[in-house]
Amino acid sequence: MDNCLFCKIIRGEIPSTKVYEDENVFAFRDINPQAPVHVLVVPKKHYKNVSECAAADPALAGEILKKCAQIAQSEGLLGGFRLITNNGPDACQSVEHMHVHILGGAKLTDKMG
Ligand code: AMP
Repeated sequence: MDNCLFCKIIRGEIPSTKVYEDENVFAFRDINPQAPVHVLVVPKKHYKNVSECAAADPALAGEILKKCAQIAQSEGLLGGFRLITNNGPDACQSVEHMHVHILGGAKLTDKMG
């Protein structure tokens, strides 16, 4: 996707603070962190949201969850962490490239919506 922000980050055309990369997955720090640790985990292949990714490639969707848990551990989030994926306008998804937010590093609010 030529004009997708996260595709450009994956290709290195826009700078990011990378925390993890493999063949299928890229992870980088959110530019506007909502917690002491705020990492975005994205598939390298462009899917607009988790609904599209899970329908087209459920193994990849599962792999992303596995990588989220591994990254949370490597970030030292031993006391817990939260995963969020905003899917569509009612969830205020602002970047249409599937991504999972990892939030942690402090006691998070119990309000999620
Ligand atoms: P969402 O609202 O769920 O679509 O999340 C998009 C996230 O991307 C937001 O938390 C933004 O702060 C983050 N973001 C936007 N641009 C960048 C960027 N250039 N580098 C890192 N994170 C970004």
